[in-house]
Amino acid sequence: MNERFVRFRTSDIPEIRYGCLENDRITALTAAPWLGGQPTSSGVPLSHATLCAPVEPSKIVCIGLNYHAHVAASFSADKPPDYPLIFLKPPSSIIDPNDQIIHPPQSERVDYEAELGVVIGRRAKNVSETDAEQYIFGFTCVNDVTARDLQKKDGQWSRAKGFDTFCPIGPWIVTDLNWRDVLVEGILNGAVMQSGRTSRMIFNIPYLISYISSAMTLMPGDIISTGTPSGIAPMKSGDVIEVRVEGIGTLANSMA
Ligand code: MG
Repeated sequence: MNERFVRFRTSDIPEIRYGCLENDRITALTAAPWLGGQPTSSGVPLSHATLCAPVEPSKIVCIGLNYHAHVAASFSADKPPDYPLIFLKPPSSIIDPNDQIIHPPQSERVDYEAELGVVIGRRAKNVSETDAEQYIFGFTCVNDVTARDLQKKDGQWSRAKGFDTFCPIGPWIVTDLNWRDVLVEGILNGAVMQSGRTSRMIFNIPYLISYISSAMTLMPGDIISTGTPSGIAPMKSGDVIEVRVEGIGTLANSMA
């Protein structure tokens, strides 16, 4: 069964709660659904809620250079990687749907990267590729915002990928997705700039879960952001950037 889960607040209850979204109505849960959260008697129409990033991960594990066409256009590689290139974004970089991305003064160029995000549902350590799907809770949209000039300058990516506001996530989680072949799009001010299918990933999701969990324990609610298709470009003040994943929905943010 495909379910949709959110984190939300309302004007009368400012506390952020997890919820299940069905027919444009949110039913509040007692806890995160991957921690056994149960429905409460409290609910609200979606239109009366403010959606928050749907996860509170201990870490955001990102994959670089995971689409063939993006590698071809990249400054940092001239052939597909032999193994997944992984890096971390700090949880402090997360912002909610419709929040603003802040352009840091240290950077001349801040790019969007539309990506499919995997939400981990169970503690995962040394998981085999065969078993990996059992550790997936669901899927959401991620924007792996990147200070491209600092990524080149620093030689490693923590600062360039880790600024506050550089990780919009949302608007919700879906539990059922044909992840092997969905369309991932980056849309800048209404123009489709990125359009790639997950079937063009170099390393697929079970392989990534197995590979990452052989190095670090994945916790319930952690995010794996699976890489971006070709078509990245910089954003400027006032731009609206949308990450749209087929079967999930659209995550929209603007540049302050
Ligand atoms: Mg990326």
